[in-house]
Amino acid sequence: MSELTTQHRLIPPALEAVCTASAVSRVVQANLEELKQITKDDRSPVTVADYAVQAIIALSLAEHLDDKDRLIVGEEDAQALRNDDQVLIRKAVLQAVQTWKPQITEEQMLNAIDHCDHDGSSDGYWALDPIDGTKGFLRGQHYAIALGRIEDGEVVAGVMGCPNLSSEQGRPLDNNDPEGVVYAASKGAGAWEFAKCDQSSEPMRIVSSPYNPDTPLRFCESAEKGHSNRGDSGRIIDNIGTEGEPARLDSQCKYALVARGQADGYLRLPTSKEYVEKIWDHAAGLCIAQEAGAVVSDVSGKPLDFTHGARLEENRGVICAIDGLHQRIIATIDELAIAQQ
Ligand code: AMP
Ligand code: MG
Repeated sequence: MSELTTQHRLIPPALEAVCTASAVSRVVQANLEELKQITKDDRSPVTVADYAVQAIIALSLAEHLDDKDRLIVGEEDAQALRNDDQVLIRKAVLQAVQTWKPQITEEQMLNAIDHCDHDGSSDGYWALDPIDGTKGFLRGQHYAIALGRIEDGEVVAGVMGCPNLSSEQGRPLDNNDPEGVVYAASKGAGAWEFAKCDQSSEPMRIVSSPYNPDTPLRFCESAEKGHSNRGDSGRIIDNIGTEGEPARLDSQCKYALVARGQADGYLRLPTSKEYVEKIWDHAAGLCIAQEAGAVVSDVSGKPLDFTHGARLEENRGVICAIDGLHQRIIATIDELAIAQQ
């Protein structure tokens, strides 16, 4: 047992849930083409994985936690899945869930998905993105299963499965690892890596890099052009004076890269005034990065504010970077008058 699992009572059940769900998501991703053919729909594999992971996380947490400890703000609800025209998807979701527990019934699965409809108004709840980085999932690339714990408006723990990311940092990001890696953190207990998406593997503490203005800086950003303003991140990076393109990958795996010392900054610059970031896209990753020593804020340097239900209403964009560099990025954003409106 590491400090982590003994320090926060909710970490062991969350780890078990995320590790189990990571394994099932990998099976769905391996059957991408088959699923597309059965359902005649290109997005169906991620729909199946989204629902299956959400059901497994809810069912798995229910095995260990009281009702009040397992409220979940999740991205999906089962309403559409109950419709007659969704029978093929429903069957595929049940099949995926039953690879974990064959005795689960369709009704239990649907109820578990619906259980994740909490609105974030209670003192303590989970924020769940069952498949974060859906585009990456469909491309056969990186995605994450992200479960963050919010108590009294603060993220106090986070567990994140990265089923295609290797614990070997030398492995190129476009070369999927067959076993993946899981990260977990809780406030004050640091951030930890579990190899092979296995909660019983010996956890290794991760820390972000120290800031050295004389070494080349390494940045990462979304693989999707629509999710982060590349023009603005390019101006920031040019101004700070680093060379080369940022690493581009989907999902909260980007927080893990900063947390484990593989990147120095993750830039998420707003693409529009209208888009409001969601708590499930940041809670788990933020906790892991902060506990590894990195700093997370919005583009104006304000901490992310988790007191507004499912949305980060008071924030715009996200900057996660190693201590020292973070302050420099915020100063540069200010100087270049980026994301001012
Ligand atoms: P990433 O994999 O980092 O590109 O982030 C994926 C997440 O981006 C998804 O879960 C969406 O919730 C979110 N997203 C969708 N549209 C936008 C947008 N316009 N700006 C920022 N994030 C978005
Ligand atoms: Mg997401």
